[in-house]
Amino acid sequence: MKILVTGGAGYIGSHAVYMLIKNGHTVVVADNLSTGFKENIHKEAKFYEGDISNKLFLSNIFEDESDIEAVMHFAGSIRVDESIYKPLEYFKNNADAVRVLLSACQNSNISTFIFSSTAAIYGQAKTVPIDELDEKNPMNPYGESKLAAENLIKSWCDIRDVNFVIFRYFNVAGAHSNGKLGIKSNNLTHLIPLIVKSAIDKKEIFRIFGDDFETEDGTCVRDFIHVQDLVEAHLLGLEWSIKNERSGIFNLGSEKGYSVKQVYDTATQVLKIEIPFEIIEKRFGDPAKIYASTILAKEILKWKPKYNLKKIIMSEYKFRLKFTKDSQSKPH
Ligand code: UDP
Repeated sequence: MKILVTGGAGYIGSHAVYMLIKNGHTVVVADNLSTGFKENIHKEAKFYEGDISNKLFLSNIFEDESDIEAVMHFAGSIRVDESIYKPLEYFKNNADAVRVLLSACQNSNISTFIFSSTAAIYGQAKTVPIDELDEKNPMNPYGESKLAAENLIKSWCDIRDVNFVIFRYFNVAGAHSNGKLGIKSNNLTHLIPLIVKSAIDKKEIFRIFGDDFETEDGTCVRDFIHVQDLVEAHLLGLEWSIKNERSGIFNLGSEKGYSVKQVYDTATQVLKIEIPFEIIEKRFGDPAKIYASTILAKEILKWKPKYNLKKIIMSEYKFRLKFTKDSQSKPH
């Protein structure tokens, strides 16, 4: 099947492209390379460089590649903290871009639209684990923009007779076992990459954002999932949707909550490295405790994640060690 992957040069999208090609699919990548890298794009994928908020760019792709049957939409902005001071940018990149993409899809032959959503749409759920029908109360523009996109996708797919699969990601980390794909930035913002970075470069003190949340040790609780397990679910979701002509919404997580302090402690144990840390003030917009129920993905899609927290940390460490060495040896 031919699949359009937006954001296929980025962290998660590039993993999806490798997995789709490995499973015999033909992949077309659309990416503006704003945060992605050309070198991440699998050699067998066809690459269109451009912005998905440009309808003409997308319409040209669908014209050239009229046999595209499914879209996997990964492109978007992903930082809770940044979204708070750049709400317009987040609604533009996460919600408005979906509107443009769907309007370009109107002249295509797609039967399934797959979307990367987020646990941030739930906000602080009243009870954990969170299931897909729980209340949606986003606490930041990132979550709000993704929820707006979800609603638009549902409305549009219903009237166009297109199936959708929405995945709500909990905290994604780790890197590809081929050593080529991972978060290729030194400007990190997510928890596990930052802990690992401090383990590699001890001058970078890891900072815990607040220790007076209503959790057992006072630090926030999150649910971690390896990027390869995550993209595996996308393949299963695509196959399920096509075979059964169904739409669905699935959480993707591990069903286990770990506090920031527990993640830090696990990293020091697994890596056998003392990691410098300090506790600083809370970050605005962080819910205290969230983790997923993934019964639906397991029962309906037959999804079986393989990586636990220790393996996720090790995978991130192996990638970051090589990435750090490579970036230090590059001429400035
Ligand atoms: N966090 C932290 N220090 C950091 C980065 C993150 O204490 O340097 C905390 C953050 O406050 C949150 C959790 O780790 O409670 C996960 O944050 P992240 O940004 O990785 O993902 P989010 O859950 O916000 O999508």
